[in-house]
Amino acid sequence: MAECDQNCSSCGESCGERKPEPDLKARLHEYSSVKKTIAVVSGKGGVGKSLVTAMTAAGMSRRGYKTAILDADLTGPSIPKVFGVTDKATGSEDGIFPVLTKGGIRLMSINLLLENESDPVLWRGPIIAATVKQFWSDCIWSDVDFMFIDMPPGTGDVPLTVFQSLPIDGILVVTSPQELVSMIVEKAVKMANMMNVPILGLIENMAYYMCPDCGAKHSVYGESHAQKTADQYGIPVLAQIPIDAKIAEACDEGLIELLPAEWLKGAEDRLVALLEKET
Ligand code: ADP
Repeated sequence: MAECDQNCSSCGESCGERKPEPDLKARLHEYSSVKKTIAVVSGKGGVGKSLVTAMTAAGMSRRGYKTAILDADLTGPSIPKVFGVTDKATGSEDGIFPVLTKGGIRLMSINLLLENESDPVLWRGPIIAATVKQFWSDCIWSDVDFMFIDMPPGTGDVPLTVFQSLPIDGILVVTSPQELVSMIVEKAVKMANMMNVPILGLIENMAYYMCPDCGAKHSVYGESHAQKTADQYGIPVLAQIPIDAKIAEACDEGLIELLPAEWLKGAEDRLVALLEKET
């Protein structure tokens, strides 16, 4: 047995001195109810994670589910902008009220609390992670079927806190063909396994460009490896999204809810199955 350094968190021995694990779980507000919590992750920034979060939430809302988004990407929050939401969040003694989009999706993002949305968040990791926990616990998320968490890219403080403290029902992994897809998926799969959270599937963004004149599909970033990689880890490719100027325009104009995103049907069906399995 190695010499004791009094740090039980880094030791696997079950000796008589062992201290109980701290309870890291964040509790929902007493007025909140959330049926399924879905984390949307990516290996690096700029692959379209926020876009996929927003379009999937909009799709589920169109299908009639009560939907919410918790923007955990505090240093790069883009969720309010793609929905064209500029109202600030309000609160009462009871808690904070998420802001509603035009289509009725409930949002919470640091940009709904900052006076100027261009102000940078210059906080260290633990403060950011604690703020995300507060978004979960102090907001009143009443009657939500699907809560989407737009995670910061990578495997830093915030993803770790979210996986340890929130009851995540499934992960959607967003990739793009330029990425080293297999390495990113491997990291996500390993992190999810370590945290006991199931990966629902892979969504490949910017997968191809469809020529508006002749309808031919072009692999702008080379051939996709998404299916091969997904097969290797036994997870499905749920959707492939093309590069499309309509998508960028809808994001810039705050009209993402009006974009009919039939590309995400596979991901939406998977979420419906997840909900129905337990109802
Ligand atoms: P991430 O959350 O991964 O950092 P975003 O979802 O914010 O990335 O996307 C970055 C930018 O790329 C957005 O401004 C969006 O308009 C644009 N974009 C993402 N995916 C596409 C696409 N498939 N077609 C056109 N523009 C896209």
